[in-house]
Amino acid sequence: MRLVILGAPGAGKGTQAAILSEKLQVPHISTGDIFRSNIKNETPLGILAKQYIDSGSLVPDEVTIGIVKDRLAEPDCKNGFILDGFPRTIQQADSLDKMLGELGTKLDKAVDIYARDDVIIRRLSGRRVCPECTAIYHINSSEHARKGICGNCGAKLIQREDDSEETVKNRLKTYHLQTEPLISYYKGKGLLVQVQGEGSPADTTAEVYQVLGLTE
Ligand code: AMP
Repeated sequence: MRLVILGAPGAGKGTQAAILSEKLQVPHISTGDIFRSNIKNETPLGILAKQYIDSGSLVPDEVTIGIVKDRLAEPDCKNGFILDGFPRTIQQADSLDKMLGELGTKLDKAVDIYARDDVIIRRLSGRRVCPECTAIYHINSSEHARKGICGNCGAKLIQREDDSEETVKNRLKTYHLQTEPLISYYKGKGLLVQVQGEGSPADTTAEVYQVLGLTE
């Protein structure tokens, strides 16, 4: 299956994309994770991306589109992929369409995970992530998060710098302005399915499976 996961920052895109990737045995491609790994390794891309990410704005389209184009051309994407955090602008969505056309394929669905801003602001302040394996936890629901140690790989968990309250507010502004129009975009193409992202991750997964016709 070839899927795009849409939703505001903190709606649960990364969590659901990881579950779907495991379930469908296709790669989970997160542009945010690609940028963070480049920032960690201090590559030229990381140095460029950091200034945008730290302020809660988007990395320029031409940079992001190039990265995704290269990634989708890799052999492990032949049987499908889960795109998490891309596209985030209409221009990115149009480019994705074109890229897939050139590869002789197309998207199956765009899954929008819906959550209100106040829920997101509360949620992101308690989010902890693993800088090594990218696992995601929350202090309200995870002993690993409260202890600060990754349950997968044992690394020390961190709070993402862009999860600070001020940056989260900017990220939400950016989302509403630049990314939310993609909901109508994919609706117009007949690809949109929507799920509620305000409950537990398991509740959202159950809805995602339902809208995609998957069995538990
Ligand atoms: P995420 O982990 O998806 O929340 O992404 C973290 C940050 O990386 C975002 O706030 C953006 O600054 C940047 N980013 C991730 N994906 C994209 C994208 N598709 N286009 C532009 N910037 C992006």
